[in-house]
Amino acid sequence: MTDVEALADGVLAAERSAISRAITLVESSRNDHRTAARQLLEKLAPHAGGAVRVGISGVPGVGKSTFIEALGTYLVDEGHRVGVLAVDPSSVRTGGSVLGDKTRMANLSTRSEAYIRPSPSAGTLGGVARATVQAMTVLEAAGFDVVLVETVGVGQSEITVAGMVDTFLFLTLARTGDQLQGIKKGILEIADVIAVNKADGSREQEAEATAKDLAGALRLVYAGTSTWVPPVLTCSALERRGIDTVWNRIIRHREFLGKRGVDEKRAQQQLDFMWALVRDELDHRLRTDADVAAVRAELRDDVLSGRLPAVAAADRILQAYDA
Ligand code: GDP
Repeated sequence: MTDVEALADGVLAAERSAISRAITLVESSRNDHRTAARQLLEKLAPHAGGAVRVGISGVPGVGKSTFIEALGTYLVDEGHRVGVLAVDPSSVRTGGSVLGDKTRMANLSTRSEAYIRPSPSAGTLGGVARATVQAMTVLEAAGFDVVLVETVGVGQSEITVAGMVDTFLFLTLARTGDQLQGIKKGILEIADVIAVNKADGSREQEAEATAKDLAGALRLVYAGTSTWVPPVLTCSALERRGIDTVWNRIIRHREFLGKRGVDEKRAQQQLDFMWALVRDELDHRLRTDADVAAVRAELRDDVLSGRLPAVAAADRILQAYDA
Protein backbone atom coordinates (compact mmCIF):
# COMPACT_ATOMS: atom_id res chain seq x y z
CA MET A 1 0.00 0.00 0.00
CA THR A 2 2.75 2.44 0.96
CA ASP A 3 4.49 1.33 -2.21
CA VAL A 4 1.55 2.43 -4.28
CA GLU A 5 1.36 5.72 -2.46
CA ALA A 6 5.05 6.41 -2.98
CA LEU A 7 4.70 5.47 -6.62
CA ALA A 8 1.72 7.80 -7.07
CA ASP A 9 3.63 10.63 -5.40
CA GLY A 10 6.58 9.97 -7.70
CA VAL A 11 4.34 10.09 -10.78
CA LEU A 12 2.66 13.30 -9.63
CA ALA A 13 6.11 14.79 -9.10
CA ALA A 14 6.91 13.73 -12.70
CA GLU A 15 9.85 11.53 -11.70
CA ARG A 16 10.85 9.50 -14.73
CA SER A 17 11.67 6.32 -12.86
CA ALA A 18 8.30 6.44 -11.09
CA ILE A 19 6.53 7.00 -14.42
CA SER A 20 8.30 3.99 -15.92
CA ARG A 21 7.53 1.78 -12.94
CA ALA A 22 3.91 2.91 -12.89
CA ILE A 23 3.45 2.08 -16.57
CA THR A 24 5.13 -1.30 -16.08
CA LEU A 25 2.68 -1.94 -13.26
CA VAL A 26 -0.41 -1.08 -15.31
CA GLU A 27 0.90 -3.23 -18.17
CA SER A 28 1.25 -6.28 -15.95
CA SER A 29 -1.38 -8.99 -16.12
CA ARG A 30 -0.40 -10.58 -12.79
CA ASN A 31 -3.30 -10.58 -10.37
CA ASP A 32 -1.47 -8.97 -7.45
CA HIS A 33 -0.14 -6.31 -9.84
CA ARG A 34 -3.63 -5.66 -11.11
CA THR A 35 -4.82 -4.85 -7.61
CA ALA A 36 -1.92 -2.49 -7.03
CA ALA A 37 -2.48 -0.95 -10.48
CA ARG A 38 -6.11 -0.27 -9.65
CA GLN A 39 -5.12 1.46 -6.43
CA LEU A 40 -2.51 3.49 -8.24
CA LEU A 41 -4.95 4.57 -10.95
CA GLU A 42 -7.50 5.62 -8.36
CA LYS A 43 -4.93 8.00 -6.94
CA LEU A 44 -3.86 9.28 -10.33
CA ALA A 45 -7.23 9.57 -12.05
CA PRO A 46 -8.23 12.89 -10.44
CA HIS A 47 -5.06 14.41 -11.90
CA ALA A 48 -5.54 12.96 -15.40
CA GLY A 49 -7.49 14.09 -18.44
CA GLY A 50 -5.55 17.25 -19.12
CA ALA A 51 -3.68 16.26 -22.26
CA VAL A 52 -4.36 16.81 -25.91
CA ARG A 53 -4.69 13.19 -27.04
CA VAL A 54 -3.67 12.53 -30.60
CA GLY A 55 -3.64 9.21 -32.48
CA ILE A 56 -1.17 8.84 -35.34
CA SER A 57 -1.55 6.01 -37.80
CA GLY A 58 -0.33 4.86 -41.18
CA VAL A 59 1.24 1.84 -42.84
CA PRO A 60 4.77 0.74 -41.90
CA GLY A 61 7.26 2.94 -43.73
CA VAL A 62 4.96 5.95 -44.11
CA GLY A 63 7.20 7.82 -41.68
CA LYS A 64 5.37 7.66 -38.37
CA SER A 65 8.40 7.58 -36.11
CA THR A 66 10.18 10.24 -38.17
CA PHE A 67 7.03 12.37 -37.98
CA ILE A 68 6.62 11.89 -34.23
CA GLU A 69 10.26 12.75 -33.73
CA ALA A 70 9.71 15.98 -35.69
CA LEU A 71 6.36 16.85 -34.13
CA GLY A 72 7.49 15.93 -30.61
CA THR A 73 10.63 18.05 -30.91
CA TYR A 74 8.59 20.96 -32.29
CA LEU A 75 6.15 20.71 -29.39
CA VAL A 76 8.86 20.43 -26.75
CA ASP A 77 10.52 23.51 -28.25
CA GLU A 78 7.15 25.24 -27.94
CA GLY A 79 7.13 24.47 -24.23
CA HIS A 80 4.96 21.34 -24.19
CA ARG A 81 5.63 18.10 -22.39
CA VAL A 82 5.04 15.22 -24.76
CA GLY A 83 4.31 11.59 -24.02
CA VAL A 84 4.48 9.01 -26.82
CA LEU A 85 2.75 5.64 -26.55
CA ALA A 86 2.60 2.91 -29.16
CA VAL A 87 -0.12 0.39 -29.86
CA ASP A 88 1.09 -2.40 -32.06
CA PRO A 89 -1.55 -5.02 -32.93
CA SER A 90 1.16 -7.15 -34.59
CA SER A 91 2.81 -7.71 -31.21
CA VAL A 92 -0.35 -9.54 -30.12
CA ARG A 93 -0.39 -11.96 -33.04
CA THR A 94 3.29 -12.62 -33.50
CA GLY A 95 5.03 -11.53 -30.32
CA GLY A 96 7.19 -9.40 -32.62
CA SER A 97 6.52 -5.80 -33.34
CA VAL A 98 6.12 -3.77 -36.51
CA LEU A 99 6.61 -0.60 -34.53
CA GLY A 100 9.64 -2.33 -33.25
CA ASP A 101 12.47 -1.57 -30.98
CA LYS A 102 14.72 -0.02 -33.62
CA THR A 103 16.26 3.12 -32.24
CA ARG A 104 13.26 5.25 -32.92
CA MET A 105 12.92 8.91 -32.15
CA ALA A 106 16.54 9.09 -31.05
CA ASN A 107 16.51 12.85 -30.50
CA LEU A 108 13.16 13.15 -28.87
CA SER A 109 13.96 10.37 -26.44
CA THR A 110 16.88 12.37 -25.05
CA ARG A 111 14.66 15.35 -24.20
CA SER A 112 13.64 15.51 -20.57
CA GLU A 113 10.28 17.02 -21.57
CA ALA A 114 9.44 13.90 -23.57
CA TYR A 115 8.65 10.36 -22.55
CA ILE A 116 8.50 7.52 -25.07
CA ARG A 117 7.10 4.10 -24.35
CA PRO A 118 7.01 1.18 -26.80
CA SER A 119 3.92 -0.94 -27.29
CA PRO A 120 3.07 -3.34 -24.48
CA SER A 121 2.96 -6.95 -25.62
CA ALA A 122 0.03 -8.13 -23.51
CA GLY A 123 -1.63 -11.30 -24.77
CA THR A 124 -4.68 -9.73 -26.37
CA LEU A 125 -5.49 -6.52 -28.17
CA GLY A 126 -7.80 -5.74 -25.29
CA GLY A 127 -4.85 -6.15 -22.95
CA VAL A 128 -2.72 -3.81 -25.04
CA ALA A 129 -5.51 -1.25 -25.24
CA ARG A 130 -6.16 -1.45 -21.52
CA ALA A 131 -2.47 -0.92 -20.77
CA THR A 132 -2.28 2.00 -23.20
CA VAL A 133 -5.28 3.83 -21.80
CA GLN A 134 -3.90 3.40 -18.29
CA ALA A 135 -0.42 4.52 -19.36
CA MET A 136 -2.13 7.63 -20.71
CA THR A 137 -3.59 8.25 -17.25
CA VAL A 138 -0.10 7.92 -15.75
CA LEU A 139 1.39 10.37 -18.25
CA GLU A 140 -1.40 12.90 -17.79
CA ALA A 141 -1.11 12.69 -14.02
CA ALA A 142 2.61 13.35 -14.45
CA GLY A 143 1.74 16.57 -16.26
CA PHE A 144 2.31 15.67 -19.90
CA ASP A 145 0.02 17.99 -21.81
CA VAL A 146 0.28 16.21 -25.17
CA VAL A 147 0.01 12.45 -25.58
CA LEU A 148 0.71 10.97 -29.02
CA VAL A 149 -0.48 7.42 -29.55
CA GLU A 150 1.15 5.73 -32.52
CA THR A 151 -0.34 2.73 -34.25
CA VAL A 152 -0.11 0.73 -37.46
CA GLY A 153 -3.08 -0.04 -39.65
CA VAL A 154 -6.54 1.31 -39.13
CA GLY A 155 -9.71 -0.11 -37.79
CA GLN A 156 -9.27 -3.84 -38.41
CA SER A 157 -10.34 -4.43 -34.87
CA GLU A 158 -13.11 -3.16 -32.71
CA ILE A 159 -10.56 -1.85 -30.26
CA THR A 160 -8.81 0.97 -32.07
CA VAL A 161 -6.59 3.86 -31.17
CA ALA A 162 -9.23 6.18 -32.64
CA GLY A 163 -11.34 5.20 -29.65
CA MET A 164 -8.70 6.46 -27.20
CA VAL A 165 -7.87 9.89 -28.58
CA ASP A 166 -9.48 13.26 -29.26
CA THR A 167 -8.01 13.74 -32.71
CA PHE A 168 -6.86 11.13 -35.16
CA LEU A 169 -4.12 11.94 -37.65
CA PHE A 170 -3.69 9.69 -40.64
CA LEU A 171 -0.37 9.73 -42.46
CA THR A 172 -0.29 8.57 -46.05
CA LEU A 173 1.91 8.77 -49.13
CA ALA A 174 1.50 10.08 -52.65
CA ARG A 175 -0.58 7.60 -54.57
CA THR A 176 -2.20 7.09 -57.89
CA GLY A 177 -5.97 7.46 -58.29
CA ASP A 178 -6.61 3.72 -58.07
CA GLN A 179 -4.78 3.32 -54.79
CA LEU A 180 -6.63 6.33 -53.45
CA GLN A 181 -9.93 4.52 -53.86
CA GLY A 182 -8.63 1.85 -51.54
CA ILE A 183 -7.61 4.08 -48.68
CA LYS A 184 -10.45 6.54 -48.79
CA LYS A 185 -13.16 4.56 -47.13
CA GLY A 186 -11.23 3.45 -44.07
CA ILE A 187 -9.85 6.93 -43.60
CA LEU A 188 -13.17 8.69 -43.89
CA GLU A 189 -14.55 6.90 -40.91
CA ILE A 190 -11.86 7.84 -38.46
CA ALA A 191 -9.40 10.46 -39.67
CA ASP A 192 -9.76 14.01 -38.37
CA VAL A 193 -6.63 15.27 -40.11
CA ILE A 194 -4.81 13.70 -43.06
CA ALA A 195 -1.21 14.41 -44.04
CA VAL A 196 0.58 13.18 -47.14
CA ASN A 197 4.12 12.63 -45.88
CA LYS A 198 7.41 12.60 -47.82
CA ALA A 199 6.40 15.70 -49.74
CA ASP A 200 10.01 16.44 -50.58
CA GLY A 201 12.49 16.10 -53.43
CA SER A 202 11.10 14.51 -56.55
CA ARG A 203 7.97 13.43 -54.75
CA GLU A 204 6.79 16.84 -53.70
CA GLN A 205 4.50 17.51 -56.68
CA GLU A 206 3.02 14.05 -56.55
CA ALA A 207 2.25 14.54 -52.88
CA GLU A 208 0.57 17.87 -53.55
CA ALA A 209 -1.54 16.26 -56.28
CA THR A 210 -2.54 13.40 -53.98
CA ALA A 211 -3.52 15.84 -51.25
CA LYS A 212 -5.65 17.77 -53.73
CA ASP A 213 -7.38 14.61 -54.94
CA LEU A 214 -8.10 13.46 -51.43
CA ALA A 215 -9.35 16.84 -50.32
CA GLY A 216 -11.67 16.98 -53.32
CA ALA A 217 -13.05 13.54 -52.58
CA LEU A 218 -13.62 14.46 -48.95
CA ARG A 219 -15.40 17.68 -49.87
CA LEU A 220 -17.83 15.69 -52.00
CA VAL A 221 -18.50 13.22 -49.23
CA TYR A 222 -19.05 15.94 -46.64
CA ALA A 223 -20.98 18.31 -48.92
CA GLY A 224 -23.96 19.83 -47.19
CA THR A 225 -22.99 18.67 -43.71
CA SER A 226 -21.85 20.92 -40.91
CA THR A 227 -19.48 18.38 -39.41
CA TRP A 228 -15.71 18.68 -39.37
CA VAL A 229 -14.23 18.01 -42.79
CA PRO A 230 -10.78 16.40 -42.38
CA PRO A 231 -8.21 18.76 -43.88
CA VAL A 232 -5.60 17.18 -46.15
CA LEU A 233 -2.09 18.56 -45.85
CA THR A 234 1.35 17.69 -47.10
CA CYS A 235 4.47 17.49 -44.98
CA SER A 236 8.01 16.25 -44.90
CA ALA A 237 8.81 14.64 -41.59
CA LEU A 238 12.39 14.16 -42.76
CA GLU A 239 12.94 17.81 -43.63
CA ARG A 240 10.64 18.93 -40.84
CA ARG A 241 8.44 20.98 -43.12
CA GLY A 242 4.70 21.33 -42.66
CA ILE A 243 4.79 19.87 -39.16
CA ASP A 244 3.58 23.08 -37.52
CA THR A 245 0.64 23.27 -39.94
CA VAL A 246 -0.38 19.73 -39.11
CA TRP A 247 -0.30 20.60 -35.41
CA ASN A 248 -2.30 23.74 -36.10
CA ARG A 249 -5.05 21.66 -37.76
CA ILE A 250 -5.07 19.25 -34.83
CA ILE A 251 -5.68 22.20 -32.53
CA ARG A 252 -8.36 23.55 -34.85
CA HIS A 253 -10.12 20.21 -34.73
CA ARG A 254 -10.14 20.45 -30.95
CA GLU A 255 -11.50 23.96 -31.11
CA PHE A 256 -14.20 22.72 -33.46
CA LEU A 257 -15.19 20.08 -30.90
CA GLY A 258 -15.01 22.56 -28.04
CA LYS A 259 -14.49 21.56 -24.43
CA ARG A 260 -17.95 20.05 -24.28
CA GLY A 261 -17.42 18.12 -27.48
CA VAL A 262 -14.14 16.69 -26.23
CA ASP A 263 -15.74 15.73 -22.91
CA GLU A 264 -18.66 14.07 -24.66
CA LYS A 265 -16.38 12.24 -27.04
CA ARG A 266 -14.27 10.93 -24.17
CA ALA A 267 -17.35 9.84 -22.22
CA GLN A 268 -18.69 7.93 -25.22
CA GLN A 269 -15.25 6.39 -25.75
CA GLN A 270 -15.27 5.15 -22.16
CA LEU A 271 -18.61 3.45 -22.71
CA ASP A 272 -17.57 1.87 -26.00
CA PHE A 273 -14.26 0.82 -24.48
CA MET A 274 -16.03 -0.85 -21.56
CA TRP A 275 -18.01 -3.11 -23.90
CA ALA A 276 -15.05 -3.71 -26.18
CA LEU A 277 -13.00 -4.88 -23.19
CA VAL A 278 -15.81 -7.12 -21.98
CA ARG A 279 -16.17 -8.70 -25.43
CA ASP A 280 -12.42 -9.10 -25.75
CA GLU A 281 -12.22 -10.80 -22.36
CA LEU A 282 -15.16 -13.10 -23.10
CA ASP A 283 -13.59 -14.04 -26.41
CA HIS A 284 -10.31 -14.76 -24.64
CA ARG A 285 -12.05 -16.92 -22.02
CA LEU A 286 -13.95 -18.80 -24.70
CA ARG A 287 -10.72 -19.58 -26.51
CA THR A 288 -8.95 -20.74 -23.35
CA ASP A 289 -11.83 -22.52 -21.61
CA ALA A 290 -11.04 -26.19 -20.87
CA ASP A 291 -14.62 -27.43 -21.41
CA VAL A 292 -14.79 -25.72 -24.78
CA ALA A 293 -11.39 -27.11 -25.69
CA ALA A 294 -12.65 -30.61 -24.89
CA VAL A 295 -15.36 -30.49 -27.57
CA ARG A 296 -13.75 -28.12 -30.04
CA ALA A 297 -11.90 -30.65 -32.22
CA GLU A 298 -14.87 -33.01 -32.49
CA LEU A 299 -17.28 -30.20 -33.36
CA ARG A 300 -14.86 -28.80 -35.90
CA ASP A 301 -14.72 -32.16 -37.72
CA ASP A 302 -18.48 -32.54 -37.52
CA VAL A 303 -19.12 -29.11 -39.00
CA LEU A 304 -16.47 -29.48 -41.72
CA SER A 305 -17.81 -32.86 -42.78
CA GLY A 306 -21.40 -31.63 -42.77
CA ARG A 307 -22.53 -34.02 -40.03
CA LEU A 308 -23.58 -31.13 -37.80
CA PRO A 309 -25.12 -27.78 -38.77
CA ALA A 310 -23.22 -24.72 -37.54
CA VAL A 311 -26.24 -23.61 -35.51
CA ALA A 312 -26.32 -26.84 -33.51
CA ALA A 313 -22.54 -26.80 -33.06
CA ALA A 314 -22.67 -23.24 -31.74
CA ASP A 315 -25.26 -24.31 -29.16
CA ARG A 316 -22.99 -27.16 -28.05
CA ILE A 317 -20.04 -24.79 -27.61
CA LEU A 318 -22.11 -22.37 -25.58
CA GLN A 319 -23.40 -25.23 -23.43
CA ALA A 320 -19.86 -26.46 -22.84
CA TYR A 321 -18.77 -22.92 -21.89
CA ASP A 322 -21.68 -22.49 -19.48
CA ALA A 323 -21.09 -25.82 -17.78
P1 GDP B 1 7.31 4.16 -39.85
O1 GDP B 1 7.52 2.71 -40.12
O2 GDP B 1 5.95 4.61 -40.32
O3 GDP B 1 7.58 4.55 -38.43
O4 GDP B 1 8.34 4.96 -40.78
P2 GDP B 1 9.78 5.57 -40.42
O5 GDP B 1 9.62 6.84 -39.68
O6 GDP B 1 10.62 4.50 -39.81
O7 GDP B 1 10.29 5.95 -41.86
C1 GDP B 1 10.49 4.98 -42.88
C2 GDP B 1 11.52 5.49 -43.88
O8 GDP B 1 11.00 6.64 -44.54
C3 GDP B 1 12.81 5.93 -43.22
O9 GDP B 1 13.88 5.58 -44.05
C4 GDP B 1 12.69 7.44 -43.13
O10 GDP B 1 13.91 8.11 -43.14
C5 GDP B 1 11.89 7.75 -44.38
N1 GDP B 1 11.07 8.97 -44.21
C6 GDP B 1 10.26 9.29 -43.17
N2 GDP B 1 9.70 10.50 -43.36
C7 GDP B 1 10.17 10.96 -44.55
C8 GDP B 1 9.97 12.17 -45.30
O11 GDP B 1 9.24 13.08 -44.92
N3 GDP B 1 10.61 12.26 -46.51
C9 GDP B 1 11.42 11.27 -46.97
N4 GDP B 1 12.00 11.46 -48.15
N5 GDP B 1 11.64 10.14 -46.28
C10 GDP B 1 11.04 9.98 -45.09
